Amino acid sequence: MAGKHMNLIYADFFPEKGIGKVLIILAILILIACMLFFYQTEVTDRVDTYVYELPFEKDKSFRIVQGYGGLFSHSNVAAIDFAMPVGTSVCAAREGIIYSYRDDSDDGGMFEDNKKSANYIIIKHDDGSFGCYWHLAKNGVLVKKGRVSNGQKIGLSGAPGLVIRPHLHFSVKRRLTYDKDSFVQTKFSTMDGVLILKNGHRYKRLQ
Ligand SMILES: [Zn+2]
Repeated sequence: MAGKHMNLIYADFFPEKGIGKVLIILAILILIACMLFFYQTEVTDRVDTYVYELPFEKDKSFRIVQGYGGLFSHSNVAAIDFAMPVGTSVCAAREGIIYSYRDDSDDGGMFEDNKKSANYIIIKHDDGSFGCYWHLAKNGVLVKKGRVSNGQKIGLSGAPGLVIRPHLHFSVKRRLTYDKDSFVQTKFSTMDGVLILKNGHRYKRLQ
């Protein structure tokens, strides 16, 4: 009886069973998307005292599409992804020395295996920490050795590596490993003040 009753309610809500199924699948997909957006894994609670510049040019603003601990590829990782079109100028967020780089890859995608095909620049800061700039365009490393200053243009963004859409992945590490505590959280100077950046928000560099 109960089953029949449920079927009647179901029929009232969804006159066509096909539409009902589509709506349920849609609801599940929206729920998964919300989880991916809002749910954060645990990251280091260590916060760098240095105030970083946003890693792009002064007249530009970009949205964070994955923040600290994001489920897609930042599990326990204190890194941020700035969505930006391929070819956008990437600037040093802090002064230091070019430690290593790669810019010969043109291969990107959304699978774990794509992780090893990222182009990047790593800048060693004066306190021994490393600034990591990932997913640069092929031939998109513009400074390959020596010292760079805060705000200096160092590369062009792209999409090689583990990516769904073109973006710049930025993190600061105390050592070049992937464990949670190799990372440090970073504060940025923005038009809205000195902030730790949040997923979904758009930020502009201080003029
Ligand atoms: Zn990332």
